[in-house]
Amino acid sequence: MKDPKVLNEKVVDVPLRNIHKHDVVIVGTGLAGLWAAIECKKAGLDTACMTKLSMPQRSHSIAAQGGTAASLGNLEEDYWEWHMFDTVKGSDFLADQDAAEILAKDAITIVREYEHMGAPFSRTPDGLIAQRKFGGHVKDFGRGGPVLRACYAADRTGHVLLHTLWQKALELGVRFYTEMFAISLITDGPKCAGVVTWDIKSGGLHAFKAKATLIATGGYGRAWKITATAYSYTADGQYMALRAGIPLEDMEFFQFHPTGLFDRGILMTEGCRGEGGYLINDLGERFMKNYAPEKMELAPRDIVSRAITSEIEAGRGINGGPYIYLDIRHLGAEIINTRLPQIREISIKFAGVDPIHEPIPIVPTAHYSMGGIPTDIDGRVWYDGKSQIFSGLYAAGECACVSVHGANRLGCNSTLDASVFGRRCGIAIVKDFANLEHLPLEEDSAKMAKEEIEFILNQKGSIRPEEIRNELQTGMQNYVAVFRDEKGLLKMVSIIEDMHKKMKDMFVSDKSLTYNTTLMEAMELRHLIAAAEAVTYGALNRTESRGAHARRDYPKRDDENWLKHTLYFRDESGFRFDYKEVKITRFFPEERKY
Ligand SMILES: Cc1cc2nc3c(=O)[nH]c(=O)nc-3n(C[C@H](O)[C@H](O)[C@H](O)COP(=O)(O)OP(=O)(O)OC[C@H]3O[C@@H](n4cnc5c(N)ncnc54)[C@H](O)[C@@H]3O)c2cc1C
Repeated sequence: MKDPKVLNEKVVDVPLRNIHKHDVVIVGTGLAGLWAAIECKKAGLDTACMTKLSMPQRSHSIAAQGGTAASLGNLEEDYWEWHMFDTVKGSDFLADQDAAEILAKDAITIVREYEHMGAPFSRTPDGLIAQRKFGGHVKDFGRGGPVLRACYAADRTGHVLLHTLWQKALELGVRFYTEMFAISLITDGPKCAGVVTWDIKSGGLHAFKAKATLIATGGYGRAWKITATAYSYTADGQYMALRAGIPLEDMEFFQFHPTGLFDRGILMTEGCRGEGGYLINDLGERFMKNYAPEKMELAPRDIVSRAITSEIEAGRGINGGPYIYLDIRHLGAEIINTRLPQIREISIKFAGVDPIHEPIPIVPTAHYSMGGIPTDIDGRVWYDGKSQIFSGLYAAGECACVSVHGANRLGCNSTLDASVFGRRCGIAIVKDFANLEHLPLEEDSAKMAKEEIEFILNQKGSIRPEEIRNELQTGMQNYVAVFRDEKGLLKMVSIIEDMHKKMKDMFVSDKSLTYNTTLMEAMELRHLIAAAEAVTYGALNRTESRGAHARRDYPKRDDENWLKHTLYFRDESGFRFDYKEVKITRFFPEERKY
């Protein structure tokens, strides 16, 4: 079953099994991919959605716990303008404000749409959607206290949102492909013709031809050792974009969530603090009073993660160890059991701690990528990062950078970003569709994908991929985490250079093409290294501290030189940076205090 026109045989036989043709092909079945699929299908477009996982509902969106932000004002006064201000201030003034305005305004519509599709949100006694407090979401343009803005379904918000969309997509007849691993884009200059995938089940390569291709592949938290993200978070989409000549934007900004379960990184939702939980050091102090005296535990994540790390470094971790306590005992059994049931279950199963009776040991955990594939406010990918559209190519969700989160994302703004901009992206595809065309499939369309598989299976070295992955994760954890400095970043650069050499001396014992998880992990490792490189070089380059990028050797924000987005380009010959202006429409940068 091989197509001699496409294959130029070397050692490994990777047959091009199938050529599929759809109007729209979406890589990723999380909130972003599904929203776009629903909009395209509603407009009558032949829409296909693929995931590398065994089922769409395993996409990482399923794991979202705490909620989705929207200024519904169900329980107290709230306005989208406040939400927009909080988002911009939370971003340390790096967010593009035209996008942040859309995020805050459309939040209200998107939550209503979820409700109309049947999403089972938690409710107030009056039957309205329940809302809780979350870090950095406050009243009156920062002048007031925390506001009830996060719409939630207990601590399983992502679960209900993803299932709601998945059911809608099924009802509409969206075509799903599972265990389909997208490897490379099919391009003709700055035009996209579709995507080439490896079929994990049957072992062949597939070419998906489409007039519009959407990358909605999520983040890459697996580049760190302690992470709250899924095993599938490996930067596949970002890598595909880089290889097509597209830059990545603002990659130096990577969020550490303050409260991961100690040692394992599993998320303990910010909803715990939203419901009133405390952070306690070894002296039994609520130490946030020394870092964010007004907002305390509900300061934005970058600030809380730095506070926890500083306490641990100062020897005030519990028993002098590398963790502190998240204490929710005072909330009582009823609130814990009804609003945070999953948190209780995870604590008991993974830490042997029942939070009704004991505090939870926690540590900051790698969580969310603020940067990604640069797009306009409708998800169209910028070929040069700022002005030229890559025709037929779109990106949305965590893999994209529109940019609403700037240097630091607020909690509950990410399911929102994926939903709002996934939907806008679908609407934009429908709008653009008449001007898009099916490009002819060139003979070497599958070349890049085939080479990627061959690169791994043909290696005759002795180093196993997991050894290299361990080096990557340890290095990123030690040198490119909550705090950074030049010395550590340069160490990571040398680890990366070393890893590139080791990749050529890799050994993958399983040479088969079906269900070869080692092959998949080796490909993912390559993508993670590429993402880690963008983060590390970006962090080294940006000589200031802003949001989640905290340089110990440059502790101040420097608006004069760095109030700009970074664009990171990479090809075989090396990397280079370009920059673009931040869009400021309503709120001028000011000192960020909480
Ligand atoms: C534990 C946890 C809790 C969170 N809680 C919240 C919260 O309470 N509120 C909030 O706003 N945000 C939260 N977030 C963040 C938020 O959930 C995510 O950022 C968002 O859901 C991402 O959606 P997405 O559609 O971009 O990607 P995902 O839902 O991750 O979907 C990505 C899809 O791409 C597919 N894919 C990836 N690579 C390939 C490939 N090569 N080939 C084919 N398919 C591929 C995956 O299989 C998957 O289907 C949380 C995140 C985590 C990790």
